[in-house]
Amino acid sequence: MVHSTPEASDDIKDKTLSLLVPMYNESEVIPVFFQVIKKVLGEIEMQWEIICVDDGSTDDTKALIEAEAAQDSRIKLISFSRNFGKEPAMTAALDYAKGDALIPIDADLQDPPEIIAEMIEKWQNGAQVVCAKRASRESDTLIKRQTAHWFYSVFNQMSDIMIPENVGDFRLMDKRVVDVIRTMPEKDRFMKGLFSWPGFETTTIEFERQSREQGTSKFNYWKLWNFAISGITSFSTMPIRAGTYLGMLIACLSFVYGIVVITKTMISGVDVPGYASLIVIILFLGGIQLFFMGLLGEYIGRIYKEVKNRPLYVVESAVGFRQSQNDKTK
Ligand code: UDP
Ligand code: MG
Repeated sequence: MVHSTPEASDDIKDKTLSLLVPMYNESEVIPVFFQVIKKVLGEIEMQWEIICVDDGSTDDTKALIEAEAAQDSRIKLISFSRNFGKEPAMTAALDYAKGDALIPIDADLQDPPEIIAEMIEKWQNGAQVVCAKRASRESDTLIKRQTAHWFYSVFNQMSDIMIPENVGDFRLMDKRVVDVIRTMPEKDRFMKGLFSWPGFETTTIEFERQSREQGTSKFNYWKLWNFAISGITSFSTMPIRAGTYLGMLIACLSFVYGIVVITKTMISGVDVPGYASLIVIILFLGGIQLFFMGLLGEYIGRIYKEVKNRPLYVVESAVGFRQSQNDKTK
């Protein structure tokens, strides 16, 4: 695209694969990661680049990547000014990547690089998106498995797009798909949803997910719970609508009950007792109102975040990119 040579060369050797790797305190796995990944990339026919994002690590992640980048110009580094989270890190990598096909991959080798070749093959055969689906979640605890299952079913019931179960961020996407994602400016980035939103022809391959190579998971249950809420409220307004319906239902019931009470009073006079029914109704309605107010707050908070329009991430330094790209902040 840089020169005016015709772009449409169908030769796979002229195409570039971009790997997008968010890294947060991963110094323990980085040596193994590069060793494995370079071996895999050495065997494919495409050109490649690895875009590493140092998400404000406090260990020597950055120095380790810099050392790798110094040896091989295809390894590039974007370094954040602080920890922004995995989603902004992936977004930065997407913004900087130049590839014709892009694959986000975790640094801990839980996404097996060995299947990259198979993904490329499916892509060459016409798929625009190649998802990698975990055949089982054996490496997860029972609670994590069950809650993940609930999350997928609730999400898919409530939103217009479908996110496939047990497919993580690890997937191959054609440049066309990524170009659509690049135009999606939302600040709350539920990546699985964003990745599914553009559509396009999608195929899936299965793999066995390993336990983490080294180090510990950066996500705990509290983070995952918030992640789930963020996912659902970013892609569905169903919960607020549920409030409307519930409100309508209760209003109708109250109306009927009102008629009953008035009729009863007219027939058999004023009936003072009624504390139990009153307190139940008051508490019930109070609870529902608070619940839906909280829910509304959830969406208002999201609107607030969007209107502030702050950058998603701040790049402190970038290594291996051309100058014009270096001062990109989104
Ligand atoms: N990660 C990141 N920023 C964060 C948390 C995580 O860039 O704030 C990266 C992390 O380095 C890893 C990937 O996101 O490459 C997945 O993280 P992790 O393995 O901890 O998550 P899990 O596999 O448990 O879902
Ligand atoms: Mg992991």
